[in-house]
Amino acid sequence: MNLRKHMGLLIIVVAAFAFSLALASPVSAQEQKPTKFVTIGTGGVTGVYYPVGGAISRLINANREQHGIRATVESTGGSIYNLNTIRAGDLDIGVVQSDWQYHAYYGTSRFSDVGPNKKLRALFSIHPESFTVVARKDANVTKFEQLRGKRVSIGDPGSGQRASMDLLLERMGWDHSVFGATFDLKAAEQSIALCNNQIDAMVYFVGHPNGSIQEATTTCDSVIVEVAGPVIDKMIEELPYYRSAVIPGGMYRGNPTEVKTFGVGALLVTSSDLPDDVAYEIVKAVFDGLESFKRLHPALEHLTRQSMATDAIAIPLHAGAEKYFKETGLIK
Ligand code: GLU
Repeated sequence: MNLRKHMGLLIIVVAAFAFSLALASPVSAQEQKPTKFVTIGTGGVTGVYYPVGGAISRLINANREQHGIRATVESTGGSIYNLNTIRAGDLDIGVVQSDWQYHAYYGTSRFSDVGPNKKLRALFSIHPESFTVVARKDANVTKFEQLRGKRVSIGDPGSGQRASMDLLLERMGWDHSVFGATFDLKAAEQSIALCNNQIDAMVYFVGHPNGSIQEATTTCDSVIVEVAGPVIDKMIEELPYYRSAVIPGGMYRGNPTEVKTFGVGALLVTSSDLPDDVAYEIVKAVFDGLESFKRLHPALEHLTRQSMATDAIAIPLHAGAEKYFKETGLIK
């Protein structure tokens, strides 16, 4: 056999071997990257958390070929449910109120029984929320104190509004017995119950505008109730996560003037167990797509990269978020 014949045979053997390898592993290199599934816990479907969670997952999933992360959204009871479920390791990420992020991390207030969750981490801050009380017009309630003796939905036990309502009542020296009756309605059920005259008032700690308050003010005649006075002023002064807030006039039917209340910030939190590269890619997806994120819900209108990296964050940042914020100069 001459050399050329040898070479020919060798080429055939090598080619056949490569071909058989290709057959044995028909998956492309891209598909081989294992998909990492993350679930985002939100709130009721007529609130802001749910559509915001949807917007976040859309931005993450748009680049899933590159980073391998696939996000899904779950409608939940709200902040308290999300914080408890993240602690239990059954939820990866959640949208929560800044007051309850603080208490969950430090193990204070309603988290004093379970103790601190030192694994809780912030990803980024989102929209402002206002403690919102809506009453039927015929209930003649325009100020919070006038809720005495009324039928009030104080919120689902897993919700942020319920926890903040209980805290407010405690500071006022009130308890549930001052009301004529209390109901634990889910966020999405409250407006319907209000307009069906099953309750006189509902409480929702939520960003504006939102579907629930819109439903309550368009289905029947109802008014947004002022939550102000010395107890609120003292709360804002003493507790760093509370601020004064207003619900703008003219945003909802039958409510032409602005109403005073107090507020918090909503933020996205997770556990330190979430891998750093996953947290990094999630933050990057939202910050890179910020302009389209803001267009997805009117409550997101005033967000800036800077406010989202710092506002309302009272616990350590997740290392992946910190890396992104440092890289982009948002924090030092
Ligand atoms: N702030 C509410 C909560 O923590 C949820 C508001 C919303 O769903 O937009 O339960």
